[in-house]
Amino acid sequence: MSFKDFLTIFILKIFVNRINYCAMAEFVKPKILLSRCLGISAVRYNGGIINDSFVEKLKKYVEYLDVCTEVDIGLGVPRQRMVIKRPGKEYRFIECGTNKDFTLKIIDYCAKISKIALDYDGAVLKAKSPSCGLDNANFYTEENNR
Ligand code: SF4
Repeated sequence: MSFKDFLTIFILKIFVNRINYCAMAEFVKPKILLSRCLGISAVRYNGGIINDSFVEKLKKYVEYLDVCTEVDIGLGVPRQRMVIKRPGKEYRFIECGTNKDFTLKIIDYCAKISKIALDYDGAVLKAKSPSCGLDNANFYTEENNR
């Protein structure tokens, strides 16, 4: 699969905030958030990891904080898949198989990470993930329910 299929790259302000430092002798590494399954640890629901050469190279030039929404809220590896369902007007994070609703835990976690992210220059997040993807994760309604 191509790099574009795997990643949503949001490089928010990377290098822009630090551009003044380029003229200085010491390069200040941009700080980014990084989805943990992108080459850091095998935390995917199926115990997998995504190794990508771009992320590998990038790691040398940035200071990163790795995040994994699902593991950080207490889920194990391996685990059931998480999906986003929209039975009515609200989106819900539902664990397949058990049908447990993790919406509140994920919202709490994201609120915490959002505060931390204010001090960061950007993020590289796993695309299409219900928990990490920003705008391209699938969701399921009553009509297309799984
Ligand atoms: S929650 Fe994010 S970091 Fe964790 S496995 Fe899923 S996509 Fe990767």
